[in-house]
Amino acid sequence: MTDESASASPREPVRALAHFIGGRAVPGTSGRFSDVFDPSTGRVQARVPLASADEVRAAVDAAADAQREWGGWTAQRRARVLQRFLDLVARDADDLARLLSSEHGKTVADARGDIQRGVEVVEFSLGAPHLLKGEFSLDVATGVDVSSMRQPLGVVAGITPFNFPAMIPLWQAGPALAAGNAFVLKPSERDPSVPLRLAELFAEAGLPAGVFSVVGGDRTAVDALLDDDRVRAVGFVGSTPIARYIYERAAARGKRAQCFGSAKNHMIVMPDADLDQAADALIGAGYGSAGERCMAISVAVPVGAETADALVARLAERVAALRVGAALDADADFGPLVSAEAVQRVSEYIETGIAEGATLVADGRGLVVPGHEGGFFLGPTLFDDVEPDHTIYREEIFGPVLVVVRADDYETALRLPSEHVYGNGVSIFTRDGDTARDFTARVEVGMVGVNVPIPVPIASFTFGGWKQSGFGDLNQHGADAFRFYTKTKTVTTRWPSGIKEGASFVMPVLS
Ligand code: NAD
Repeated sequence: MTDESASASPREPVRALAHFIGGRAVPGTSGRFSDVFDPSTGRVQARVPLASADEVRAAVDAAADAQREWGGWTAQRRARVLQRFLDLVARDADDLARLLSSEHGKTVADARGDIQRGVEVVEFSLGAPHLLKGEFSLDVATGVDVSSMRQPLGVVAGITPFNFPAMIPLWQAGPALAAGNAFVLKPSERDPSVPLRLAELFAEAGLPAGVFSVVGGDRTAVDALLDDDRVRAVGFVGSTPIARYIYERAAARGKRAQCFGSAKNHMIVMPDADLDQAADALIGAGYGSAGERCMAISVAVPVGAETADALVARLAERVAALRVGAALDADADFGPLVSAEAVQRVSEYIETGIAEGATLVADGRGLVVPGHEGGFFLGPTLFDDVEPDHTIYREEIFGPVLVVVRADDYETALRLPSEHVYGNGVSIFTRDGDTARDFTARVEVGMVGVNVPIPVPIASFTFGGWKQSGFGDLNQHGADAFRFYTKTKTVTTRWPSGIKEGASFVMPVLS
């Protein structure tokens, strides 16, 4: 077992973090800070400054200046900077993963995946010269041609959640920068160190100062970005109430916005599914990263009583064998939750589930990890006999809690995710192609997996949930990202005959 956080001294100094504005670290001046914890020990390890509106304005000033040059570079030249950035991320991948793990609480192996999924979108964005190509039509009328071009918006902003501190900033910044925009990131105040490291790596890669800035902050910083007319687009990922708030406020200021919110992802298990495979998939997708993934499976829907009994038995056996440990413990299946408040919130959901009549099969409350008594731990929790009107079914829990809702038949199973207020991801486990085809066509959810538990599309496709999991027209990454981060200009051209008719020595007259 490798576990270094256990040996951290209680008197270790608290790191003072800064903003990254105009190509350099800039200490906060607002006098307001937020504590950054080590979730494995419960100790404060850093303090991040919370920006004032003036500090945000300084980041937008720097971005607006820098974008004029950056937006004029060829797409190929910009892509070369992104390629150098990718080389630096590869060089520092281990350090980045450990840093991410130490602030978020996910295991180092999982943190590597967080970085890798972000890297893949930057790799996709290297294709900007192709992705930014416009259209052309010759002779739409006699002697008249029409062309279109994609131009950068200018300054754009990203507001990102704690649960993917590398992946989501890179999903936004990769295409935004490749398209010629300057980007101001307001990462989660809970784990801001990796976003700040990414800013340093962009600078080292040769990104002109000001093109990528990071401001630490809370609602004050977010409102300052939303109210600045120079910020032309906002990408948000986080919980639904904040997604809706940002979408509405951005729209009221005439900005483009894509805002992705909470989730309640179901996995339908048909009677013909390989139940061991389905149970393994549920364990990984339900409890990986302590359930703090927007694409975590939090609801299992076995079809038929026999399937349900067999599945729950398999899940209970596997849950009992799960190992919860410190983030840097290489043997842990998952680590602590991000904060003490998260442990409290999830524990309250467990109490509500019991009170509303669900069957508690495994209870993760009260888990203590030896050597890490102050850590924010909660063990894997499993509920059976959950009903659609139960609070633990209707609301996102965002913790290591999997609920089983039994469905009598396929049509009932199909209705559950389709009628849920959230529609991020869903999956079906079956051996029957006809059922799978019907399900993928009819289910009212944005991303669907067939025998795939976490159907996060690869970078060249787009990512986005439906219903209250996503506000806005265009998804993240894939071709949509280049549409979101550019505006289209359409040019209609007519060239009257000129020099090619030859010189004329006769006095011109109007005909
Ligand atoms: P959150 O909504 O609390 O915070 C997200 C961001 O919004 C952070 O940067 C935070 O500082 C900021 N913020 C918080 N309160 C604000 C306010 N009142 N006004 C303005 N800004 C505010 O979310 P979180 O806890 O960091 O992340 C977990 C949530 O994100 C879960 O609901 C999860 O499902 C969701 N999520 C969704 C996706 C997706 O693609 N749909 C991906 C990842 C996470």
